[in-house]
Amino acid sequence: PPAFDGHRALHSPKISFEFFPPKTEEMERSLWETINRLAPLAPNFVSVTYGAGGSTRERTHSTIARILKETSLVPAAHLTCVGAPKGEINDVVARYHEIGVRHIVALRGDPTTGIGTAYHAHPDGYQSSPDLIAGIKKRYPDIEISVSAYPEKHPESPTIDADIDTLKAKVDAGAARAITQVFFDNDLYFRYLDRVRARGIDIPVVPGIMPMHNFKQARSFVTRAGTTVPTWLADKFEGLDDDADTRKLVAATVAAGQVHKLAKHGVDTFHFYTMNRADLVFAISHLLGIRPNGAQKAA
Ligand code: FAD
Repeated sequence: PPAFDGHRALHSPKISFEFFPPKTEEMERSLWETINRLAPLAPNFVSVTYGAGGSTRERTHSTIARILKETSLVPAAHLTCVGAPKGEINDVVARYHEIGVRHIVALRGDPTTGIGTAYHAHPDGYQSSPDLIAGIKKRYPDIEISVSAYPEKHPESPTIDADIDTLKAKVDAGAARAITQVFFDNDLYFRYLDRVRARGIDIPVVPGIMPMHNFKQARSFVTRAGTTVPTWLADKFEGLDDDADTRKLVAATVAAGQVHKLAKHGVDTFHFYTMNRADLVFAISHLLGIRPNGAQKAA
C-alpha cells in the first residue's frame, strides 16, 4: 500500500515519548514491547528519565544505549545535577557523547531531602539548571538541550515571572526546547506561552501530555509536582476506581480531547508521558492523525 493516502496534513503533528528506566526484567520486557509498538509512529525523539537524585544513573544509561543499538529512534537522556559534583556529571555526559547521544534533557532535580524541602546544590556541583546547561554546552556544543517549563509555576518559585526568568536563563545558556510539566487546563498553557513569548523567549515550549492510566495514583503524583487537577477532570473518573477498562476509555477520551483542542489552536508538537505503556498514547497519536511509518492523515 502507499505510505499515505494523499490527505497528508499540511502541519503534521510532531510527537515525542518519555519513558522511565525499568527496575526489573519484567518491567524491561514490558518497556520494550511499548517501544516496539510506538517506534513505527516515528517520534522526533524518545526520552528516558533519570531517577530522583541520580538513582537510576546506570539504568538510564543502559536503556538509552539499548535504544541506540536496537532501534533507529533518537534518544534523549534526562540528567539532573542535584547531589553530585561537577566531575561526576561531566563523566555521565562524556559517556553519553561517546556512544552517540546528542540530546540531553537537562534539569536541576528535586532536593535529595524530598520534594517541598529546601534545595541545596552540591558544594562542588553545578549550582542550577542554567549552570548545568552551560557546562554541557561548553564541552559539547553539538549536544541539543531540552529543559523543563512550568505553566503553573514550579512549587518553589514565588511567581510565574520568577519561573519564566529561570526559563530565560536556561535559554541563554543554550536550551533549544522546553517541555512542560503536565497540565490539564489548556488555558493555563496558552496564558503561560503568552508570557514566555512576551519575555522574548522563542524556543518551542512543547506541551507535556499525560494520559491518566490510573487516575488516583496519577492525581497524587502530579499534585505534588504542582499540577492542578480540575474538578471536571476528577468528576470524569468518579466511581471508576475498580473499573480499569472504563477508566482506560475515559483516560483516552480526556487526553485525546486535550491534544485535539491544543492542535486546533495551532499546537503542532506534543510530548507524551507514556508511563512505559503504549495503548493510550498510540490511540491518542492515531487520533492526531499520526500513522505508523510516517504516514499521516489530517486530524
Ligand atoms: P529549574 O527549571 O531549574 O527550576 C524550576 C523553578 O524553581 C524555577 O522557576 C526556579 O526559579 C525555581 N528554583 C530553582 N532553584 C531554586 C532555589 N534554589 N530556590 C528557589 N527557587 C528555585 N526530575 C528527575 O529527577 N528526573 C527526571 O528525569 C526529570 N525529568 C523531568 C522532565 C520534565 C519535562 C519536567 C517538567 C520535570 C522533570 N523532572 C525530573 C522534575 C524536576 O527535576 C523537578 O521539577 C525539580 O524540582 C526542578 O528541576 P528543574 O530543572 O525543572 O528546575
